[in-house]
Amino acid sequence: MEKIALYVHIPFCKQKCFYCDFHSFQGMEEAMERYTKALIEEIKRKAQKYEITSVFIGGGTPTYLYLPLFEELLKCIGSLNLSKDIEYTVECNPGTLNDEILEVMKKNKVNRLSLGLQACQDNLLTVIGRIHNYKEFEENFYLARSKGFDNINVDLMYGLPGQKVDQWKESLSKIIKLSPEHISAYSLIVEEDTIFYRWYEQNKLNLPTEDQEREMNDLTHSLLKDSGYNRYEISNYAKEGKECKHNLVYWNLEDYIACGTGASAYIGGVRYKNLLNMNKYMEAIEKSLEEYEEVIKNSSEDNMEEFMFMGLRKLEGISEDNFKKRFKVSIDDIFKAVIDKHVKDRLLVRENGMIFLSEKGIELSNYVMSDFMLT
Ligand code: SF4
Repeated sequence: MEKIALYVHIPFCKQKCFYCDFHSFQGMEEAMERYTKALIEEIKRKAQKYEITSVFIGGGTPTYLYLPLFEELLKCIGSLNLSKDIEYTVECNPGTLNDEILEVMKKNKVNRLSLGLQACQDNLLTVIGRIHNYKEFEENFYLARSKGFDNINVDLMYGLPGQKVDQWKESLSKIIKLSPEHISAYSLIVEEDTIFYRWYEQNKLNLPTEDQEREMNDLTHSLLKDSGYNRYEISNYAKEGKECKHNLVYWNLEDYIACGTGASAYIGGVRYKNLLNMNKYMEAIEKSLEEYEEVIKNSSEDNMEEFMFMGLRKLEGISEDNFKKRFKVSIDDIFKAVIDKHVKDRLLVRENGMIFLSEKGIELSNYVMSDFMLT
């Protein structure tokens, strides 16, 4: 049986965070039941023929779904052919966890939680539009531990409006003390179509200076490194053996199926993006139609580009052998000039059959990666 990863999208949130451009909505609770039914139908159709190696239920806020619906969804996924060593993650918003929901997850084979905290200071949480406070996060974290969840990720964000370097240091230190297995630390990007973007255009977003942001960036690496977290991707840190297997599927450009409105799959070199309009998505499933927002058949060049972009996000970089196995040509036949240029500028390192970003290269990763465009 062919193996594959599975992404499941829950588009509901209690309140839209001010920085968020994910495909998620507030005030759509009345659609939860119909949506879950459609989602379960789609999962059955698409996932049953595979062995599932990892599951990631993301959103949105999966744990905001009404509990009986959430349980139905988990039962459906639990009845698939799951690998014995499956990594099965649910994204949770702090403040949405309680005994009952954690037990439902535990009973239905979920073995990894990802908690979107972002900051440890309540005033900053309010500034970015989060609905929870730090205390609620900590309570949820300990509750999850008490229920036996031994693989937890915490999401943090720096470069927030009004954030001081010391506050970022405090956030990192507090989370390190809690000792989650995995920490994601992203810098804020002001995306179009967000409240932050509007404020930014009106000059109302009091962002840290470039120097402050660089300091926060440096602090992240040094503090996490000293505390036993290995940086294995530009923004992701893990204790030994706790790297996120599901995200590695994306970074290694491996196949995954995706269910839910707006979810994107990659199967056999083809990208399938599900319908973005939630009503249309549900209608199509109910009528047994297979409709997509977009289907893009990658050319060989597209796949090579994506293999480089995604692979270079990993600190270990990409393997020349893997490139050759996959594309039947040597990496030098395609990318010699650009690799040589960046190696010369010390942005890339080429060593023992691997090509990876140097420390300076990580800082300039967008520039380096854009040079790998072939089309
Ligand atoms: S909870 Fe997550 S998905 Fe929902 S609005 Fe906030 S950041 Fe976006």
